[in-house]
Amino acid sequence: MRDQAPHDLAIIGAGSAGFSAAITAAELGARVALIGHGTIGGTCVNTGCVPSKNLIRVKGQARVTEGGIAVDGNLIRADNIIIATGASPAVPPIPGIETVPYLTSTTALDLAVLPRSLLVIGGGYVGCQLGQMFARAGVVVRIVDIVPILSAGEPEISTALAGYLREEGIALHEGVRPTAIRETARGVALDLSAGGKSETIEAEQVLVSTGRRPNTAGLGLEEAGIELLPSGGVKVDDQMRTTRAGIYAAGDVTGRDQFVYMAAYSARIAAENALNGDGRCYDTTAMPYVVFTDPQMASVGLTEAQAREQGLSVKTSVLSLDQVPRATPAGSSSSLPTREAARSSARTCWRRRAPTASRRRRSRSKAGSPSGS
Ligand SMILES: Cc1cc2nc3c(=O)[nH]c(=O)nc-3n(C[C@H](O)[C@H](O)[C@H](O)COP(=O)(O)OP(=O)(O)OC[C@H]3O[C@@H](n4cnc5c(N)ncnc54)[C@H](O)[C@@H]3O)c2cc1C
Repeated sequence: MRDQAPHDLAIIGAGSAGFSAAITAAELGARVALIGHGTIGGTCVNTGCVPSKNLIRVKGQARVTEGGIAVDGNLIRADNIIIATGASPAVPPIPGIETVPYLTSTTALDLAVLPRSLLVIGGGYVGCQLGQMFARAGVVVRIVDIVPILSAGEPEISTALAGYLREEGIALHEGVRPTAIRETARGVALDLSAGGKSETIEAEQVLVSTGRRPNTAGLGLEEAGIELLPSGGVKVDDQMRTTRAGIYAAGDVTGRDQFVYMAAYSARIAAENALNGDGRCYDTTAMPYVVFTDPQMASVGLTEAQAREQGLSVKTSVLSLDQVPRATPAGSSSSLPTREAARSSARTCWRRRAPTASRRRRSRSKAGSPSGS
């Protein structure tokens, strides 16, 4: 594709964050290029509100370059860029893992035949959701983690959920360190060590769910002066700005808060800041967290531990759901605990960048347009 006219904003990655940024920018009247590689994602965005006529969709693998983005040898010129390339399953550094035919959250859902037994390495929300799904389909499931499962949440809730999973027959190996993995005649064998003791557990298949690594390879980020975090994520500040002026990042590629609604939220902020002058600030003080196990687990905002780490004064109360009158008519008979915390905090978001030429151009043209668009 040849597209020589400059864009106000170019977005690399047509997933949840990419579509959210594109829609936000199109609504702001910007000329936008959305560059997608692989399957164009985001069902609700594809079938829902369609970006305005100002949006141009380009298919191909993108790379940040001087003056814009190179896509299959063509230059998409843009004043601002948003990197929204998402993340892929991360493989843990267990000796032997590269010799084992492991499943990931993507390939596990493509299985044509269920295994008799499944070893899940990683007890975060992906491992617990998929582990329970396979267990309910009749697979013997074991979940292994170096820390307690779902440890990102409140401990009372994670512990209660672990109890439910065990009641369903799922074996949990928590606080153990995988030391080696190998293929056997019957499937795979994983060596574990904990507290000076070691054991080997076996299963027909193994699923790796140890997090998702940001997709940054081949984008030319380091050459463009865009710093990466040790985790591999694109380093951004609270305005979603990378270390290079005019280039923003949003969604899973930043390595933080890898939830679809946070991808959409951060992308909206990135698009508005790119076009309107960095006035919006990413704020997780009311961030929701939902795990779609049965029963489900949900939280909003900081955990008690996170609040204390931030030096906030915290008061908490823990209630079992069967003690909450509203839970019974809502159909909840579980005794999962509910936890509330009260605290106080204040955040300030500073506007730090002067409007760019394109913003000035757009605001001039908006001022001259009777419809304002
Ligand atoms: C098994 C599983 C369960 C999940 N469950 C939940 C859940 O219950 N709730 C929840 O909130 N979140 C959940 N998530 C997380 C959620 O899916 C992600 O947070 C969200 O999809 C991130 O959106 P994104 O736009 O950042 O990335 P993506 O949706 O991955 O989009 C990135 C896009 O960029 C493209 N791309 C990559 N490189 C290039 C390149 N060089 N050039 C052009 N395009 C490129 C990719 O092909 C992709 O289309 C789950 C994830 C998994 C894996």
